[in-house]
Amino acid sequence: MVESVSGAGQKGGEVLNPFVIAQQYVKSAVDALGLEPAVYEILKQPAKILEVNFPVVMDDGSIKVFTGYRAQHNTAVGPAKGGVRFHPDVSVDEVRALSMWMTFKCAILGLPYGGGKGGVICNPEQMSAGEIERLTRAYIDAIAEVIGPEKDIPAPDVNTNAQVMAWMVDEFSRLRGYNAFGVVTGKPIIIGGSEGRSEATARGVVLTVREAAKKLGMELQGARTVVQGFGNVGSVAARLAAAAGAKVIAVSEVRGGLYNPAGLDIRAVEEFKAHNGTIVGFPGAEPISNEDLLILDCDVLIPAAVENQLTAANAPHIKAKIISEAANGPTTPEADAILNERGVFIVPDILANAGGVTVSYFEWVQNLMNYYWTEDEVNQKLEASMARSFNTVYNMAVSKKVTMRQAAYMVAIKRVAEAMRVRGWLG
Ligand code: GLU
Repeated sequence: MVESVSGAGQKGGEVLNPFVIAQQYVKSAVDALGLEPAVYEILKQPAKILEVNFPVVMDDGSIKVFTGYRAQHNTAVGPAKGGVRFHPDVSVDEVRALSMWMTFKCAILGLPYGGGKGGVICNPEQMSAGEIERLTRAYIDAIAEVIGPEKDIPAPDVNTNAQVMAWMVDEFSRLRGYNAFGVVTGKPIIIGGSEGRSEATARGVVLTVREAAKKLGMELQGARTVVQGFGNVGSVAARLAAAAGAKVIAVSEVRGGLYNPAGLDIRAVEEFKAHNGTIVGFPGAEPISNEDLLILDCDVLIPAAVENQLTAANAPHIKAKIISEAANGPTTPEADAILNERGVFIVPDILANAGGVTVSYFEWVQNLMNYYWTEDEVNQKLEASMARSFNTVYNMAVSKKVTMRQAAYMVAIKRVAEAMRVRGWLG
């Protein structure tokens, strides 16, 4: 049985616990592949999970104790890999689910990694840069024994960025007594980061939209595109979609969205946000709520915020022809069924947003060989990997007559099961 956790409840009777949802998808794929029950028993939870509670000195001199996690789901094909999020809704079940999704993302892309994920329960919006730095260093001190370039390699996720990665690599290197740049990816370029990493997740998402449009015989040029979320991934996805010829008619962040049927100037929205800390109030667009944004008349919808945004309540009203899941777990299983029934082409999260970890892999490889590639080299390799993986999943979907999501899980689990089998984990 699965424990229940904070932040993971039910909405309109739907199961919203991402861990329960991830387990359902794994079970279904294991059964569809005709694999033995042991495969599900191994993959239904992380192999290892560490909970840490650590003190941080706040700016006012008080001490606050924070709770964090690091989960390592499966390491059959390589060391654990995955981001760390700083968010008030982080929970052990969320970290468990996210670590499972990392195993599958890496397997779909053929990367020599298993899945890992970390999180700290905190609200960085209410913390100073100094407090975030001290929290980051304390978290690394607390999990140092389980991470390392050959063991488990963290990266950015919700509310963490290249600066946070720089503090992580610095803290870990101090503990080890030498520069261990390969311990974390998504670093600033000057300390071993890769060209193209900061845009990679979004670039991958837009590449999957392009591939999906090809399959549907749809033009990307002029395609009315809506992006929910304007963080690390959403803002860049909006910019790259516009650069690819799409007409981005709406974007949003937690506080609200912007709508302009004639198309938004994404660079200008990014500049507005850089100056004002929010996109709300951007001139030349109508305000729109996140609820209304998701059901706008459009061709492409890119949910790039958090889990459980497309639900049984709004799925019947969603008008997009293609949905590419930039966020992890944005669609509930009930919404997924409704959207599939209605013929919407969904590129599932474990394929759509795998561009980030793909360039993280390139970054780690560059760190290990101390030889660095140009942005063009990185982008070309990313494009080739995403297109190849998209087609592997698409071919599985067509040949087995299943959805792209089921096919993605099947491609991933087939690979991981094969590694576990040859290693002797399945008896
Ligand atoms: N946090 C990102 C994800 O969910 C990137 C992980 C990584 O680069 O290791 O895929």
